[in-house]
Amino acid sequence: LYAINLNVRGIQPSATLRINELSNHLRAQGKDIIKLGLGQSPFPVPERVVESLKAHAHEKDYLPVRGLKDLREAISGYINRSERMRSTWEDVLIGPGSKELLFMLQLAYYGDLLIPRPSWVSYAPQARIIGRSVHWLPTHAENNWQLTAEELDIICRDDPSRPRILILNYPSNPTGCTYTDDQLLAIANVARKYNLILLSDEIYGEVHFEGKHKSIARYYPEGTIISTGLSKWAGAGGWRLGAFIFPPELRPLQDAMAIIASETFTSTSAPTQYAAITAFNGGDDITEYLTQSRRVLKVVGEYMHRRLNEMGAVVQKPEGAFYLFPDFSSFRDRLASQDIKTAQALCTALLEKTGVAILPASDFGFSPDHLGARLAFVDFDGGQALAIAGDEYAEK
Ligand code: PLP
Repeated sequence: LYAINLNVRGIQPSATLRINELSNHLRAQGKDIIKLGLGQSPFPVPERVVESLKAHAHEKDYLPVRGLKDLREAISGYINRSERMRSTWEDVLIGPGSKELLFMLQLAYYGDLLIPRPSWVSYAPQARIIGRSVHWLPTHAENNWQLTAEELDIICRDDPSRPRILILNYPSNPTGCTYTDDQLLAIANVARKYNLILLSDEIYGEVHFEGKHKSIARYYPEGTIISTGLSKWAGAGGWRLGAFIFPPELRPLQDAMAIIASETFTSTSAPTQYAAITAFNGGDDITEYLTQSRRVLKVVGEYMHRRLNEMGAVVQKPEGAFYLFPDFSSFRDRLASQDIKTAQALCTALLEKTGVAILPASDFGFSPDHLGARLAFVDFDGGQALAIAGDEYAEK
Protein backbone atom coordinates (compact mmCIF):
# COMPACT_ATOMS: atom_id res chain seq x y z
CA LEU A 1 0.00 0.00 0.00
CA TYR A 2 2.81 2.46 0.80
CA ALA A 3 3.85 2.38 -2.86
CA ILE A 4 0.76 4.39 -3.77
CA ASN A 5 1.40 8.01 -4.66
CA LEU A 6 0.59 10.21 -1.67
CA ASN A 7 -1.37 12.63 -3.85
CA VAL A 8 -3.79 9.90 -4.87
CA ARG A 9 -4.15 8.30 -1.46
CA GLY A 10 -7.38 9.37 0.22
CA ILE A 11 -9.06 10.60 -2.97
CA GLN A 12 -12.34 8.78 -3.55
CA PRO A 13 -13.25 7.55 -7.04
CA SER A 14 -15.14 10.19 -9.04
CA ALA A 15 -18.34 11.02 -7.14
CA THR A 16 -20.65 10.88 -10.15
CA LEU A 17 -19.32 7.55 -11.37
CA ARG A 18 -19.57 6.14 -7.83
CA ILE A 19 -23.25 7.04 -7.50
CA ASN A 20 -23.96 5.69 -10.98
CA GLU A 21 -22.43 2.32 -10.15
CA LEU A 22 -24.37 2.13 -6.88
CA SER A 23 -27.64 3.05 -8.65
CA ASN A 24 -27.03 0.39 -11.32
CA HIS A 25 -26.25 -2.16 -8.63
CA LEU A 26 -29.50 -1.41 -6.77
CA ARG A 27 -31.47 -1.51 -10.02
CA ALA A 28 -29.95 -4.87 -10.85
CA GLN A 29 -31.29 -6.11 -7.49
CA GLY A 30 -34.76 -5.16 -8.68
CA LYS A 31 -35.06 -1.89 -6.71
CA ASP A 32 -36.93 0.99 -8.32
CA ILE A 33 -34.18 3.64 -8.64
CA ILE A 34 -34.57 7.15 -10.02
CA LYS A 35 -31.12 8.07 -11.29
CA LEU A 36 -30.57 11.78 -10.75
CA GLY A 37 -26.89 11.29 -9.93
CA LEU A 38 -24.80 11.00 -13.09
CA GLY A 39 -24.96 13.97 -15.49
CA GLN A 40 -25.48 12.10 -18.69
CA SER A 41 -27.49 13.39 -21.64
CA PRO A 42 -30.89 11.66 -21.82
CA PHE A 43 -30.99 11.98 -25.61
CA PRO A 44 -29.80 9.56 -28.29
CA VAL A 45 -26.93 10.71 -30.54
CA PRO A 46 -28.29 12.43 -33.72
CA GLU A 47 -28.95 9.74 -36.32
CA ARG A 48 -26.63 11.12 -39.01
CA VAL A 49 -23.76 11.21 -36.51
CA VAL A 50 -24.40 7.56 -35.60
CA GLU A 51 -24.43 6.66 -39.31
CA SER A 52 -21.13 8.41 -39.73
CA LEU A 53 -19.63 6.44 -36.83
CA LYS A 54 -20.81 3.17 -38.40
CA ALA A 55 -19.47 4.15 -41.80
CA HIS A 56 -16.02 4.65 -40.25
CA ALA A 57 -15.86 1.53 -38.12
CA HIS A 58 -13.14 0.20 -40.41
CA GLU A 59 -10.83 3.14 -39.66
CA LYS A 60 -8.24 1.32 -37.61
CA ASP A 61 -5.09 3.38 -37.70
CA TYR A 62 -3.68 5.69 -35.08
CA LEU A 63 -4.53 9.26 -35.97
CA PRO A 64 -2.35 12.37 -35.51
CA VAL A 65 -1.80 13.19 -31.85
CA ARG A 66 -3.63 16.54 -32.02
CA GLY A 67 -6.55 15.05 -33.97
CA LEU A 68 -7.69 14.68 -37.57
CA LYS A 69 -7.15 17.82 -39.60
CA ASP A 70 -10.72 17.67 -40.95
CA LEU A 71 -12.11 17.47 -37.45
CA ARG A 72 -9.93 20.30 -36.20
CA GLU A 73 -11.16 22.33 -39.16
CA ALA A 74 -14.81 21.44 -38.42
CA ILE A 75 -14.44 22.51 -34.78
CA SER A 76 -12.67 25.72 -35.66
CA GLY A 77 -15.43 26.48 -38.20
CA TYR A 78 -18.09 25.69 -35.58
CA ILE A 79 -16.57 28.04 -33.01
CA ASN A 80 -15.97 30.78 -35.59
CA ARG A 81 -19.64 30.61 -36.67
CA SER A 82 -21.03 30.67 -33.16
CA GLU A 83 -18.58 33.11 -31.55
CA ARG A 84 -17.53 35.24 -34.52
CA MET A 85 -13.94 34.25 -33.89
CA ARG A 86 -11.08 33.75 -36.34
CA SER A 87 -9.57 30.53 -35.10
CA THR A 88 -7.84 28.15 -37.51
CA TRP A 89 -7.65 24.35 -37.47
CA GLU A 90 -4.20 24.59 -35.89
CA ASP A 91 -5.73 26.14 -32.76
CA VAL A 92 -7.72 22.98 -32.01
CA LEU A 93 -6.58 20.02 -29.89
CA ILE A 94 -8.67 16.83 -29.77
CA GLY A 95 -8.69 14.45 -26.80
CA PRO A 96 -10.56 11.41 -25.49
CA GLY A 97 -13.09 13.51 -23.55
CA SER A 98 -12.63 17.04 -22.28
CA LYS A 99 -11.93 15.57 -18.83
CA GLU A 100 -8.63 14.15 -20.12
CA LEU A 101 -7.77 17.48 -21.77
CA LEU A 102 -8.47 19.31 -18.51
CA PHE A 103 -6.12 16.97 -16.69
CA MET A 104 -3.41 17.42 -19.33
CA LEU A 105 -3.78 21.18 -19.04
CA GLN A 106 -3.03 20.99 -15.34
CA LEU A 107 -0.08 18.70 -16.03
CA ALA A 108 1.32 21.04 -18.67
CA TYR A 109 0.91 24.29 -16.71
CA TYR A 110 2.34 24.82 -13.27
CA GLY A 111 0.18 27.61 -11.81
CA ASP A 112 -2.46 27.47 -9.07
CA LEU A 113 -5.98 26.45 -9.92
CA LEU A 114 -8.81 28.89 -9.21
CA ILE A 115 -12.35 27.51 -9.28
CA PRO A 116 -15.68 28.87 -8.07
CA ARG A 117 -17.41 27.06 -5.22
CA PRO A 118 -19.46 25.06 -6.24
CA SER A 119 -17.70 23.55 -9.25
CA TRP A 120 -17.79 20.30 -11.22
CA VAL A 121 -16.59 17.30 -9.22
CA SER A 122 -13.33 16.55 -11.07
CA TYR A 123 -11.41 19.86 -11.30
CA ALA A 124 -10.15 19.80 -7.70
CA PRO A 125 -9.28 16.06 -7.52
CA GLN A 126 -7.35 16.39 -10.79
CA ALA A 127 -5.31 19.21 -9.26
CA ARG A 128 -4.75 17.21 -6.09
CA ILE A 129 -3.52 14.18 -8.04
CA ILE A 130 -0.68 16.24 -9.44
CA GLY A 131 -0.03 18.12 -6.21
CA ARG A 132 -1.34 21.51 -7.34
CA SER A 133 -2.99 24.03 -4.96
CA VAL A 134 -6.66 24.77 -5.44
CA HIS A 135 -8.27 28.07 -4.43
CA TRP A 136 -12.03 28.03 -4.18
CA LEU A 137 -13.70 31.33 -5.04
CA PRO A 138 -16.91 32.00 -3.12
CA THR A 139 -20.22 32.36 -4.96
CA HIS A 140 -23.71 32.70 -3.47
CA ALA A 141 -27.14 31.24 -4.18
CA GLU A 142 -28.81 34.66 -4.01
CA ASN A 143 -26.38 35.82 -6.70
CA ASN A 144 -27.28 32.89 -8.99
CA TRP A 145 -24.01 31.21 -7.98
CA GLN A 146 -22.11 33.58 -10.28
CA LEU A 147 -18.47 34.36 -9.69
CA THR A 148 -17.97 38.11 -9.46
CA ALA A 149 -15.05 40.07 -10.87
CA GLU A 150 -14.50 41.50 -7.35
CA GLU A 151 -14.04 38.06 -5.75
CA LEU A 152 -11.58 37.14 -8.48
CA ASP A 153 -9.66 40.36 -7.99
CA ILE A 154 -9.46 39.83 -4.22
CA ILE A 155 -7.76 36.44 -4.59
CA CYS A 156 -5.34 37.62 -7.29
CA ARG A 157 -4.26 40.98 -5.90
CA ASP A 158 -2.13 39.61 -3.02
CA ASP A 159 0.35 38.06 -5.42
CA PRO A 160 -0.45 39.65 -8.79
CA SER A 161 2.18 37.92 -10.87
CA ARG A 162 1.60 34.38 -9.59
CA PRO A 163 0.77 32.02 -12.50
CA ARG A 164 -2.81 30.82 -12.26
CA ILE A 165 -5.52 29.04 -14.22
CA LEU A 166 -9.13 30.07 -13.71
CA ILE A 167 -11.78 27.56 -14.76
CA LEU A 168 -15.14 29.10 -15.52
CA ASN A 169 -17.93 26.70 -16.46
CA TYR A 170 -21.29 27.87 -17.76
CA PRO A 171 -24.02 26.86 -18.14
CA SER A 172 -22.83 25.42 -14.87
CA ASN A 173 -22.57 21.94 -13.56
CA PRO A 174 -23.81 21.79 -10.75
CA THR A 175 -26.01 24.92 -10.61
CA GLY A 176 -27.48 25.28 -14.12
CA CYS A 177 -26.67 29.01 -13.94
CA THR A 178 -24.96 31.08 -16.59
CA TYR A 179 -23.57 34.65 -16.98
CA THR A 180 -24.65 37.89 -18.63
CA ASP A 181 -22.38 39.63 -21.14
CA ASP A 182 -21.53 42.35 -18.62
CA GLN A 183 -20.49 39.80 -16.02
CA LEU A 184 -18.31 37.96 -18.54
CA LEU A 185 -16.69 41.23 -19.60
CA ALA A 186 -15.93 42.17 -15.98
CA ILE A 187 -14.37 38.76 -15.25
CA ALA A 188 -12.40 38.91 -18.51
CA ASN A 189 -10.96 42.29 -17.53
CA VAL A 190 -9.69 40.94 -14.20
CA ALA A 191 -8.29 37.85 -15.94
CA ARG A 192 -6.35 40.13 -18.31
CA LYS A 193 -5.13 42.35 -15.45
CA TYR A 194 -3.49 39.33 -13.77
CA ASN A 195 -2.53 37.50 -16.94
CA LEU A 196 -4.57 34.43 -16.01
CA ILE A 197 -5.01 31.43 -18.22
CA LEU A 198 -8.79 31.22 -18.49
CA LEU A 199 -10.21 27.80 -19.24
CA SER A 200 -13.79 28.35 -20.32
CA ASP A 201 -15.54 25.01 -19.89
CA GLU A 202 -18.36 25.31 -22.41
CA ILE A 203 -19.24 21.64 -22.59
CA TYR A 204 -22.90 22.70 -21.99
CA GLY A 205 -22.63 25.72 -24.31
CA GLU A 206 -25.28 24.36 -26.68
CA VAL A 207 -27.57 23.40 -23.80
CA HIS A 208 -28.95 26.83 -22.85
CA PHE A 209 -32.61 27.61 -22.47
CA GLU A 210 -32.90 31.32 -23.36
CA GLY A 211 -31.07 33.51 -25.87
CA LYS A 212 -27.66 32.50 -27.05
CA HIS A 213 -24.63 31.19 -25.22
CA LYS A 214 -21.60 33.46 -25.58
CA SER A 215 -18.02 32.53 -24.91
CA ILE A 216 -15.92 34.67 -22.59
CA ALA A 217 -13.24 34.25 -25.28
CA ARG A 218 -14.95 37.19 -27.02
CA TYR A 219 -13.75 39.44 -24.18
CA TYR A 220 -10.37 37.87 -23.36
CA PRO A 221 -9.37 36.22 -26.64
CA GLU A 222 -5.64 36.17 -26.00
CA GLY A 223 -5.87 34.23 -22.73
CA THR A 224 -8.94 32.00 -23.08
CA ILE A 225 -9.02 28.32 -24.00
CA ILE A 226 -12.50 27.07 -24.89
CA SER A 227 -13.38 23.51 -23.89
CA THR A 228 -16.11 21.65 -25.75
CA GLY A 229 -16.94 18.13 -26.89
CA LEU A 230 -19.59 15.67 -27.97
CA SER A 231 -20.62 14.43 -24.52
CA LYS A 232 -23.42 16.77 -23.58
CA TRP A 233 -24.99 18.43 -26.61
CA ALA A 234 -24.67 15.40 -28.88
CA GLY A 235 -25.50 12.85 -26.17
CA ALA A 236 -22.26 10.93 -26.82
CA GLY A 237 -20.52 10.87 -23.42
CA GLY A 238 -19.41 7.29 -23.89
CA TRP A 239 -17.76 8.01 -27.22
CA ARG A 240 -15.15 10.09 -25.42
CA LEU A 241 -14.42 13.07 -27.60
CA GLY A 242 -13.42 16.48 -26.29
CA ALA A 243 -11.71 19.50 -27.84
CA PHE A 244 -9.84 22.61 -26.70
CA ILE A 245 -9.62 25.71 -28.88
CA PHE A 246 -6.51 27.76 -28.02
CA PRO A 247 -5.64 31.33 -28.93
CA PRO A 248 -2.41 31.50 -30.99
CA GLU A 249 -0.78 33.22 -27.97
CA LEU A 250 -1.10 29.98 -25.99
CA ARG A 251 0.31 27.68 -28.69
CA PRO A 252 3.25 26.67 -26.40
CA LEU A 253 0.71 25.31 -23.94
CA GLN A 254 -1.01 23.35 -26.69
CA ASP A 255 2.41 22.01 -27.76
CA ALA A 256 3.15 20.91 -24.19
CA MET A 257 -0.20 19.14 -23.95
CA ALA A 258 0.43 17.43 -27.30
CA ILE A 259 3.70 16.03 -25.90
CA ILE A 260 1.81 14.60 -22.92
CA ALA A 261 -0.84 13.20 -25.28
CA SER A 262 1.81 11.56 -27.45
CA GLU A 263 3.29 9.83 -24.42
CA THR A 264 -0.01 8.75 -22.90
CA PHE A 265 -3.09 8.09 -25.07
CA THR A 266 -1.50 8.62 -28.55
CA SER A 267 -4.73 9.71 -30.26
CA THR A 268 -8.49 9.69 -29.80
CA SER A 269 -10.59 6.85 -31.25
CA ALA A 270 -10.61 7.10 -35.05
CA PRO A 271 -14.29 6.28 -35.83
CA THR A 272 -15.38 8.77 -33.15
CA GLN A 273 -13.28 11.51 -34.71
CA TYR A 274 -14.83 10.92 -38.14
CA ALA A 275 -18.34 10.97 -36.64
CA ALA A 276 -17.49 14.17 -34.76
CA ILE A 277 -16.79 15.90 -38.09
CA THR A 278 -20.42 15.30 -39.03
CA ALA A 279 -21.61 16.58 -35.65
CA PHE A 280 -19.54 19.78 -35.64
CA ASN A 281 -20.27 20.60 -39.28
CA GLY A 282 -23.93 20.73 -38.23
CA GLY A 283 -26.92 20.92 -40.55
CA ASP A 284 -30.68 21.38 -40.34
CA ASP A 285 -31.22 18.03 -38.59
CA ILE A 286 -28.69 18.88 -35.90
CA THR A 287 -30.13 22.35 -35.41
CA GLU A 288 -33.57 20.77 -34.97
CA TYR A 289 -32.18 18.17 -32.55
CA LEU A 290 -30.65 20.94 -30.44
CA THR A 291 -33.80 23.07 -30.50
CA GLN A 292 -35.94 20.16 -29.32
CA SER A 293 -33.43 19.01 -26.67
CA ARG A 294 -33.34 22.50 -25.17
CA ARG A 295 -37.13 22.67 -25.17
CA VAL A 296 -37.49 19.34 -23.40
CA LEU A 297 -34.79 20.10 -20.82
CA LYS A 298 -36.24 23.53 -20.09
CA VAL A 299 -39.68 22.06 -19.41
CA VAL A 300 -38.34 19.23 -17.24
CA GLY A 301 -35.94 21.58 -15.38
CA GLU A 302 -38.66 24.14 -14.67
CA TYR A 303 -41.02 21.43 -13.46
CA MET A 304 -38.40 20.05 -11.05
CA HIS A 305 -37.54 23.57 -9.93
CA ARG A 306 -41.18 24.31 -9.13
CA ARG A 307 -41.66 21.06 -7.21
CA LEU A 308 -38.51 21.60 -5.16
CA ASN A 309 -39.61 25.13 -4.32
CA GLU A 310 -43.01 23.88 -3.24
CA MET A 311 -41.30 21.40 -0.93
CA GLY A 312 -39.44 24.25 0.77
CA ALA A 313 -35.98 23.86 -0.78
CA VAL A 314 -34.10 26.97 -1.91
CA VAL A 315 -33.13 26.47 -5.53
CA GLN A 316 -32.19 28.58 -8.57
CA LYS A 317 -34.10 28.15 -11.81
CA PRO A 318 -31.84 26.41 -14.34
CA GLU A 319 -30.73 28.49 -17.33
CA GLY A 320 -28.97 25.64 -19.09
CA ALA A 321 -27.28 22.22 -18.72
CA PHE A 322 -29.35 19.62 -16.83
CA TYR A 323 -28.79 20.32 -13.17
CA LEU A 324 -30.43 21.84 -10.11
CA PHE A 325 -28.53 22.66 -6.93
CA PRO A 326 -31.11 22.87 -4.12
CA ASP A 327 -30.34 23.83 -0.54
CA PHE A 328 -32.24 21.79 2.06
CA SER A 329 -31.10 23.80 5.12
CA SER A 330 -34.72 24.63 5.98
CA PHE A 331 -35.11 20.92 6.84
CA ARG A 332 -32.07 20.93 9.14
CA ASP A 333 -33.95 20.38 12.43
CA ARG A 334 -36.24 17.69 11.06
CA LEU A 335 -33.30 15.89 9.49
CA ALA A 336 -31.18 16.20 12.65
CA SER A 337 -33.94 14.44 14.58
CA GLN A 338 -33.33 11.47 12.26
CA ASP A 339 -29.59 11.81 12.82
CA ILE A 340 -29.03 13.24 9.32
CA LYS A 341 -26.48 16.04 9.72
CA THR A 342 -24.51 16.02 6.49
CA ALA A 343 -25.39 16.22 2.81
CA GLN A 344 -23.79 12.82 2.32
CA ALA A 345 -26.01 11.30 5.02
CA LEU A 346 -29.03 12.96 3.41
CA CYS A 347 -28.21 11.52 -0.03
CA THR A 348 -27.59 8.05 1.40
CA ALA A 349 -30.90 8.13 3.31
CA LEU A 350 -32.75 9.34 0.20
CA LEU A 351 -31.33 6.54 -1.90
CA GLU A 352 -32.08 3.88 0.70
CA LYS A 353 -35.57 5.09 1.64
CA THR A 354 -36.92 6.46 -1.63
CA GLY A 355 -34.67 5.09 -4.37
CA VAL A 356 -33.71 8.61 -5.55
CA ALA A 357 -30.00 8.98 -6.34
CA ILE A 358 -28.53 12.51 -6.06
CA LEU A 359 -25.10 13.90 -5.16
CA PRO A 360 -24.16 15.79 -1.98
CA ALA A 361 -22.95 19.41 -2.20
CA SER A 362 -19.73 18.26 -0.51
CA ASP A 363 -18.72 16.68 -3.84
CA PHE A 364 -18.79 20.18 -5.36
CA GLY A 365 -16.57 21.93 -2.82
CA PHE A 366 -18.84 22.58 0.18
CA SER A 367 -18.21 21.47 3.75
CA PRO A 368 -20.00 18.23 4.76
CA ASP A 369 -22.63 20.05 6.87
CA HIS A 370 -23.85 22.22 3.99
CA LEU A 371 -27.23 20.58 3.35
CA GLY A 372 -27.23 20.98 -0.41
CA ALA A 373 -27.26 18.51 -3.28
CA ARG A 374 -27.10 18.27 -7.05
CA LEU A 375 -29.91 16.74 -9.07
CA ALA A 376 -29.33 15.80 -12.70
CA PHE A 377 -32.80 15.84 -14.27
CA VAL A 378 -31.98 13.26 -16.92
CA ASP A 379 -33.73 10.05 -15.90
CA PHE A 380 -36.38 10.01 -18.61
CA ASP A 381 -36.68 8.55 -22.07
CA GLY A 382 -34.93 11.21 -24.14
CA GLY A 383 -35.70 9.53 -27.46
CA GLN A 384 -39.42 9.53 -26.70
CA ALA A 385 -39.22 13.08 -25.36
CA LEU A 386 -37.59 14.32 -28.56
CA ALA A 387 -40.28 12.59 -30.57
CA ILE A 388 -43.08 14.21 -28.61
CA ALA A 389 -40.98 17.29 -27.88
CA GLY A 390 -41.62 19.75 -25.14
CA ASP A 391 -44.79 20.67 -23.37
CA GLU A 392 -46.85 17.56 -24.02
CA TYR A 393 -44.08 15.37 -22.61
CA ALA A 394 -43.85 17.35 -19.38
CA GLU A 395 -47.56 16.85 -18.80
CA LYS A 396 -47.09 13.11 -19.14
N1 PLP B 1 -16.82 19.62 -17.61
C1 PLP B 1 -18.03 19.55 -17.00
C2 PLP B 1 -18.56 20.77 -16.35
C3 PLP B 1 -18.75 18.35 -17.01
O1 PLP B 1 -19.95 18.31 -16.41
C4 PLP B 1 -18.20 17.22 -17.62
C5 PLP B 1 -18.89 15.93 -17.61
O2 PLP B 1 -19.69 15.62 -16.77
C6 PLP B 1 -16.95 17.35 -18.23
C7 PLP B 1 -16.28 18.56 -18.22
C8 PLP B 1 -16.26 16.18 -18.90
O3 PLP B 1 -16.88 15.81 -20.07
P1 PLP B 1 -16.22 14.81 -21.11
O4 PLP B 1 -14.96 14.30 -20.53
O5 PLP B 1 -17.23 13.74 -21.32
O6 PLP B 1 -15.96 15.65 -22.35
